[in-house]
Amino acid sequence: MFKKILIANRGEIALRVIRACRELGVQTVAVYSEADRESLHVRFADDDVCIGPAPARDSYLKIPRIIAAAEIAGADAIHPGYGFLAENAEFAETCAASNIAFIGPTAEQIRVMGDKASARNAMAAVGVPIIPGTPGPVEDAEEALEFAREIGFPVIIKAAAGGGGKGMRVAAEPEDFTRSFQLARSEALSAFGSGDVYVEKYLERPRHIEFQILGDRYGNVIHLGERDCSVQRRHQKLIEEAPSVAVTPELREAMGEASVRGAQAIDYVGAGTIEMLLNADGNFYFMEMNTRIQVEHPVTEVLTGVDLVKEQIRVASGEELSVTEMPALRGHVIECRVNAEDPARNFQPSPGKIDVFHPPGGPGVRLDTHVYTGYTVPPYYDSLLAKVICQGRDRPEALRRMQVALESFIIEGVTTTIPFLARVMADPHFQAGDVDTRFLEREVYLLKEPA
Ligand code: ADP
Repeated sequence: MFKKILIANRGEIALRVIRACRELGVQTVAVYSEADRESLHVRFADDDVCIGPAPARDSYLKIPRIIAAAEIAGADAIHPGYGFLAENAEFAETCAASNIAFIGPTAEQIRVMGDKASARNAMAAVGVPIIPGTPGPVEDAEEALEFAREIGFPVIIKAAAGGGGKGMRVAAEPEDFTRSFQLARSEALSAFGSGDVYVEKYLERPRHIEFQILGDRYGNVIHLGERDCSVQRRHQKLIEEAPSVAVTPELREAMGEASVRGAQAIDYVGAGTIEMLLNADGNFYFMEMNTRIQVEHPVTEVLTGVDLVKEQIRVASGEELSVTEMPALRGHVIECRVNAEDPARNFQPSPGKIDVFHPPGGPGVRLDTHVYTGYTVPPYYDSLLAKVICQGRDRPEALRRMQVALESFIIEGVTTTIPFLARVMADPHFQAGDVDTRFLEREVYLLKEPA
């Protein structure tokens, strides 16, 4: 086992990793930007190193500074969390070259899955269904339009290097195509430094269903079931749950088997997620693989009792997976992401000082957060304040617990999405489990505060 792990991240996920390390008896090193000096992850770690000014590109994204911090503090491994450098192959390589274990898959595995086009090809090669689309990036708008006509409209143009819903444009008909194509390309170039895009069929009312994967160095690959992340705004997840009301045991077996086959095809090591779209007709298609821990990983942890972060650390240190098959599911779990955003202003971030913070609690309630009374939410990073995870014996109980948890969750000083989440919980479509990725586009009333 490792002696000391540096956590190359901030916020709630840094705390989550520190907790796992403490349980395993491993020392921790926090890194922080000048804006995060007062953060809890700095306080809870055994050691801490300031790695630069507030902007992420000058701190959390600066590979040499993070490696130097690990060397100074004597860390023998780095956990990247999610976001920042978590899916950066160069970072994984630099860790290896510096004799520091990267807690995640190999640089090669990150590279194959990091490019959506090469990931599609890798999956298709082992018979995992993919959405009809161009076999690789397309440069020429004319050629791309030709292809779009072949697969049929609507289509979606996606950045090959995409993530976080950026660099994605839907074209409903041929007339929209060229404009959407150019927009996606320029957005891709500015967000990811590569203008590579490809075109695929746009599914009209799919669910986003993803499978949690775990693999070790001894060829063991398992899945821990699905998470339904269909409640999204602008392709960004807001609410996740498991099991999905749309996934029957047979479908779970088929989708789980395809996910494991896909991960095995690249000898996947560590925790990863196979994201798929599920159509109302029961057909499913691979969308992408995330080669890291996900924001919504607690849903699976609560449902299965498996500590995914500890598994990641164990596997990276050369141990075998401690679970060999999917455990019995423990009821139903729902997660809500509470963000410092103002739904009335188009979900604009609302950073600032938290004057009152009173967390929810009680049976079946887990809260992952880095926030406390007096904490100032800096404007430089994502706006996630807390994840509320509620479990019940069945979906109605989990849902009711979430409603009670949201009612008793008090945050004052910044505007949050709590009232919005409460409206979704009370929505008859959501309560009936009748959602797809465009649910919030239709139920626009949910986005607004009632007059
Ligand atoms: P990112 O890497 O930016 O998160 P993804 O490829 O994971 O992008 O897609 C994010 C979301 O975009 C999906 O959950 C889904 O809502 C939507 N989406 C992506 N591809 C399609 C498609 N072919 N048809 C319909 N919706 C899609």
